[in-house]
Amino acid sequence: MQTARTLDVLRTKVAALRESGGSVGLVPTMGALHEGHLTLVRRAREECEHVVASIFVNPTQFGPNEDLDAYPRQLEQDGAMLESEGCDLLWAPGTEAMYPHGFATSISVTGVSEGLCGAARPGHFDGVATVVAKLFNQVRPDAAFFGEKDFQQLAVIRRMARDLDLSQPHATAIVGVPTVREADGLAMSSRNRYLSKEHRRAAAVLPRVMGDAIARIEDGQEVAPTLAMLEDELLGAGFDRVDYATLADADTLAPLDVMKGLPARLLVAARIGGTRLIDNMAVQR
Ligand code: AMP
Repeated sequence: MQTARTLDVLRTKVAALRESGGSVGLVPTMGALHEGHLTLVRRAREECEHVVASIFVNPTQFGPNEDLDAYPRQLEQDGAMLESEGCDLLWAPGTEAMYPHGFATSISVTGVSEGLCGAARPGHFDGVATVVAKLFNQVRPDAAFFGEKDFQQLAVIRRMARDLDLSQPHATAIVGVPTVREADGLAMSSRNRYLSKEHRRAAAVLPRVMGDAIARIEDGQEVAPTLAMLEDELLGAGFDRVDYATLADADTLAPLDVMKGLPARLLVAARIGGTRLIDNMAVQR
């Protein structure tokens, strides 16, 4: 696997991959890689001849009171994991390469980015959209792979790619990959490592009560009391706060009071021991 730390080197190496023929897949990450990320890399390998992974802890998507400085950084270990998955090129820019002096542009996707995590983390999705648009322009991939784990992020990127003509048939296909979970059901996340043993054990309640709530909603029970019960169960299990527990239209993420027969999603963000966990699951009807 090759590594690029500057844009010039990246462009030269991507051009060489292209010259050798075949499509290029991009897997954007912030590092601290786990099976979830590696599943994206494997999927990219299945669908593309060449795989580029990026590792960049993007400062503009962290709020002032968030964990930017504490965010885990382990480039060497991550590089070894990517190499063993057959990744061709690691794009690991420094902050100066990504945001040179005077950088002044921001992409803001309205609507889909405004509720849920957008409400709790002002500016977060502007940071995400801007950095992903830059990555697309830097690498010009045929396909880019994102986890459903960050369901709202995926919706924001799809919207941006459509609106800015970044997506197929002329440019990048956006591929969503199902969430990879630990044995007890907790969605894998780089932030799970912040949890104490006790909080880690309690965190597994999150996917369990989400599954229970979905079963009730699919069974025809009312949405609002079911979500209220879900919140109570989380607080009872040791969560400190529920930022949101929302049933939403799976495309627009508009909240739903009742199941209307359209693809729906249950999305939850909750805090335990100072760590904010998010999860989401499909709801059928
Ligand atoms: P991050 O490094 O947290 O920014 O995540 C990079 C990419 O990996 C994003 O597209 C995430 O949605 C995806 N991802 C993170 N955790 C998981 C998971 N448990 N399953 C599937 N994809 C994931």
